[in-house]
Amino acid sequence: MMGDIIQLLPDHVANQIAAGEVVQRPSSVVKELIENAVDAGATSIQLIIKDAGRSLIQVIDNGNGMSATDVRMAFERHATSKIRTTEDIYAISTKGFRGEALASIAAVSQVETKTRRNEDELGVQLIIEAGEVRNQDPVVCVEGTSIAVRNLFFNVPARRNFLKSNQVEFRHIQDEFQRVALAHESISFYMHHNDAEIYHLKGGNLKQRLVQVFGKKLGTQIISVDEDTEIVKINGFVGKPEIAKKSRGEQFFFVNNRYIKSGYLHNAIVDAFDNLLPSGHQPSYFLYLDIEPSKIDINIHPTKTEIKFEDEALIYTILRAAIKHSLGQFNITPSLDFDQDPNWAFIPSATDETEIKMPEISVDSSFNPFLQTQSRTPKPSDIRATMDFYNDAVELEIENNHAHQLFESEAFKNEKLEVIQWQNKYLIVDYMGELLIIDQHRAHQKILFEKFIHAKKENALVQQMLFPIELELSTQDRQKLIQVEHQLLSFGFDISLDEETIQINSIPVDVQQEDVVSVFMDFIDELDYHDELAIESSFAKILAKNSAVKKGVGLKPEQAQTLVEELFKLQNPNYSPYGRPIFVQMNPTDIEKILQ
Ligand code: ADP
Ligand code: MG
Repeated sequence: MMGDIIQLLPDHVANQIAAGEVVQRPSSVVKELIENAVDAGATSIQLIIKDAGRSLIQVIDNGNGMSATDVRMAFERHATSKIRTTEDIYAISTKGFRGEALASIAAVSQVETKTRRNEDELGVQLIIEAGEVRNQDPVVCVEGTSIAVRNLFFNVPARRNFLKSNQVEFRHIQDEFQRVALAHESISFYMHHNDAEIYHLKGGNLKQRLVQVFGKKLGTQIISVDEDTEIVKINGFVGKPEIAKKSRGEQFFFVNNRYIKSGYLHNAIVDAFDNLLPSGHQPSYFLYLDIEPSKIDINIHPTKTEIKFEDEALIYTILRAAIKHSLGQFNITPSLDFDQDPNWAFIPSATDETEIKMPEISVDSSFNPFLQTQSRTPKPSDIRATMDFYNDAVELEIENNHAHQLFESEAFKNEKLEVIQWQNKYLIVDYMGELLIIDQHRAHQKILFEKFIHAKKENALVQQMLFPIELELSTQDRQKLIQVEHQLLSFGFDISLDEETIQINSIPVDVQQEDVVSVFMDFIDELDYHDELAIESSFAKILAKNSAVKKGVGLKPEQAQTLVEELFKLQNPNYSPYGRPIFVQMNPTDIEKILQ
């Protein structure tokens, strides 16, 4: 008979684990409990929810179960059966390892656990309330574990009041459930909400899982991606370009069976689709990367949805090439010559022995080359003036008179900066001995974001539509938009509504008419996740993202120059509204290092 397995981590190990709040909302509990069930080797996992998780979150699994001693230990902080030493953190193959989830959950709820190991005749029932053990008894129960979490945050009213509407909280729960279910297609998952069955997913292969979750139609709309290199193994599916959506679409990215957010690698995917998608469309993808655990760090974020890769740039290249390959093989990009992709030549195959290191370039995030010498303060009219060249609103009238002042700005006229556009993506500037390589899309995104936020406080500059733009939307989506009507108006979107459509009568000057549909789809998506109060900055981000000059767009020299100048008038030109770096900087010493 097996002994007890859960141990307290020694302090020096515990202290190296990314600290942070594990339990933010019901969906956090769902994620932790389901992941524990997966780690326990369950082949069937059932999730039962009441009131979007406010009154009940229960997970029932048929996994290993726990001994009477272990179940008690499981609720101690830093108690885990999954790691023992610091080194173990770098070779994680389980979902959990922090030994914190159960303790954190039990501290803010009423938890009833029933569990039995295969080798035990009787199981054990443990009741904990606000972290205090109330009761522990032997109990007759099936093999596996059931953990019921009731009245989350009952003892922390501030947190309880902070929860969003049931609709928003339930949406988050569904997201977490889907992510684990998609990462473990061989496990059966079931979900009930207020006694209605929401998911019934029988274990199978990945394609079957995708079809079960997203519907039969998807099965005919995806193509497989399969690539095996020494650095990373990639498999999964991407949507055929014709199913690309105007809204976010289904985008799932997993590393070692863990759902991960990575804006950087998302770009690799979008890049692979290149010109296959109409502007503003988003590809769907379900991609799974397998990387040796020592080559990634999953310990940088408490919820473990962000990770660091040792070979990020190389993975970018491999990923992009793998997807191009699939799109090419399925004759979706007839002109694509995969073997000629110069990047591909550098990727070692699974049998290649050589180790490849990318040159490293460091980014000083506080560096603003223009602040040292600059004494000009930007006038709002400057900011409005410059970016106007992207608007070819031919059939639109610019209503506001201010717009005419836009071209009068004299700023920078006497100090021409040489800006070179490279690859239609980057702007290269030599500034006082530093070489700056600026991402044109992110730079413009940042400028526009500041502008949208700023314009709101003043009067938004609008273009009146001669013919209102009509959107056909579901009742639910129209309802959502109506709730934020005044916020939309403050940005310059004047909307009206009839039985089936929404009419958009005016839009901000910095938004192009052809982007409006995708902007509104993004707004609607975002409304699922934010209540009205938090929505304004999200709207500004969406507007900036959709209106910013895209990668691959050629700029005239004056346009490139203006973009750079406007960027460095900002207080913080370093990061995009989505938190991505906008430029890299290099000095001769950096170059010498690379050339060594
Ligand atoms: P972690 O998952 O990081 O180890 P948790 O607090 O989530 O920390 O769980 C603590 C321990 O409790 C786990 O290491 C595991 O041994 C045990 N445990 C938790 N949930 C289950 C379960 N459903 N079945 C079996 N053991 C479990
Ligand atoms: Mg856990």
